[in-house]
Amino acid sequence: MLSPVLPGLYIDGQWRAGGEQLTVINPSTEERLAIVSGGDAQAVNEAVQAAQRAFGAWSKTTGAARAVILRTIARAVAARRERLMTLQSSNSGKPGFEAAIDVDDVIATFDYYADLAEASDGQQNQTVGLPSEDFSARLRREPCGIVGLIVPWNFPMVTTAWKLAPALAAGCCVLLKPSEVTPLAELELARIIADSGLPTGVFNVVCGTGQQVGAPVSGHPGIAKVSFTGSNAVGVQVMQRGAETVKGVSLELGGKSALLVMDDADLDLAVELASGGGYFNAGQMCSATNRVLVAQELLEPFLQRIVAKAQSIKVAGPLDDAAEMGPLINQAQYQRVLNHIEAGKAAGAQLLCGGGRPAALPRGYFLEPAVFSQVPLDSALWRDEIFGPVLCVRGFSSEAEAIALANDSQFGLVASVVSGNAETADRVANALQAGMVWINAPQVIFAQTAWGGYKQSSVGRELGPWGMQAFQEIKHVVRAI
Ligand code: NAD
Repeated sequence: MLSPVLPGLYIDGQWRAGGEQLTVINPSTEERLAIVSGGDAQAVNEAVQAAQRAFGAWSKTTGAARAVILRTIARAVAARRERLMTLQSSNSGKPGFEAAIDVDDVIATFDYYADLAEASDGQQNQTVGLPSEDFSARLRREPCGIVGLIVPWNFPMVTTAWKLAPALAAGCCVLLKPSEVTPLAELELARIIADSGLPTGVFNVVCGTGQQVGAPVSGHPGIAKVSFTGSNAVGVQVMQRGAETVKGVSLELGGKSALLVMDDADLDLAVELASGGGYFNAGQMCSATNRVLVAQELLEPFLQRIVAKAQSIKVAGPLDDAAEMGPLINQAQYQRVLNHIEAGKAAGAQLLCGGGRPAALPRGYFLEPAVFSQVPLDSALWRDEIFGPVLCVRGFSSEAEAIALANDSQFGLVASVVSGNAETADRVANALQAGMVWINAPQVIFAQTAWGGYKQSSVGRELGPWGMQAFQEIKHVVRAI
């Protein structure tokens, strides 16, 4: 049943409705789930002003005080785990186990940055060694100011937590712009945060489209830093607009990551990791390892097993407990992936399985997991981010060739290596141009390890201490003795 218009603006401690109405779709049924009101440049301006009023006091709180609030948020998210999972699954089609991973990641991220905020009190004003007895110096890390957080639809709560928790831990005031496609779990998370004891104006939300809200956030002179996760095309625009006021900009963008199956790999493990890396979240992952490079002698058996695996995956909506892969997010994304599949076939790539609508699912943006072989190296299928459940498999005849193929990309977000030899795996991992490399491991992510990539995948790093430093200025105070 369609609910009334949900307020999509939380500004200066008040929920309110904006002018624009955003229709939110259930991708498993193609039905309307809700209508959310969105804001505009005026709402962005008001949110920035509220944040500016709050900044003076909030920026001077201790890390310990901020940690209390971050832990309150983590516990409240845990208490509303089921509700958040349901909203996430209905708005994005994620199976229950995927929605659970998202919520648990949010909890872990807030707890981690609570610890870091607390520890930061003892690290403030550290003495800096100088090559002179005439001067002393101390180092301060201070919040950089008002920050704009712009997030995508594929992992809405997770990408929000990775920015929001460190920004609050650092003492910044925040304007969050959720994706207009997936605001429902985001708004529930925002209600939790609004009730967590944060002073009025520290945390603000403005839902809306990229043009109406994202662009004014990127260009606002009162915003010191924009942290953006999304597509490369929009990331470039955010950087360009940010340049006008010399803003700090962090970008988490696209990928075209590789999974390397070395000649001594455990094939069953390789198939599991390829399937997880390619089909989790229906392949709508910046970290999707959908270029699979396999040692030539293992190529045929690998292809047989990955095709069998792809064909065994239960594609269904989240109401089906057996669902292993959900739908794509919307009609536009569905058509985009189908176009890539058709263009790949036209370029000479061989489709071994999948790539069409499952017969049992006439509605919803469902796609059978696809496996391609013989994909031309200059084709869009091999080079561009597909953002769908499509694996491209290719053989290699030497370690050097595997590394060269993996690194031959404008992106460099993550990579995976499957090998029975620890030395081989480490040597290959060290040679790959990627911000994260998993060895014989699924795409497990810890708040302690950095997230971000080489080349056109990222500017900066999220998570770990680097995620918090992204929201801090460094100040040295030098005194004559
Ligand atoms: P998108 O770039 O279309 O949108 C991302 C956000 O930017 C949304 O909130 C959108 O409203 C906003 N936006 C759109 N136009 C804008 C503008 N002109 N100015 C400012 N903001 C604007 O991306 P998407 O389709 O939501 O997400 C998919 C993309 O995100 C993929 O390319 C994926 O690789 C990337 N992604 C990267 C990571 C990472 O960690 N590197 C993680 C998740 C997603």
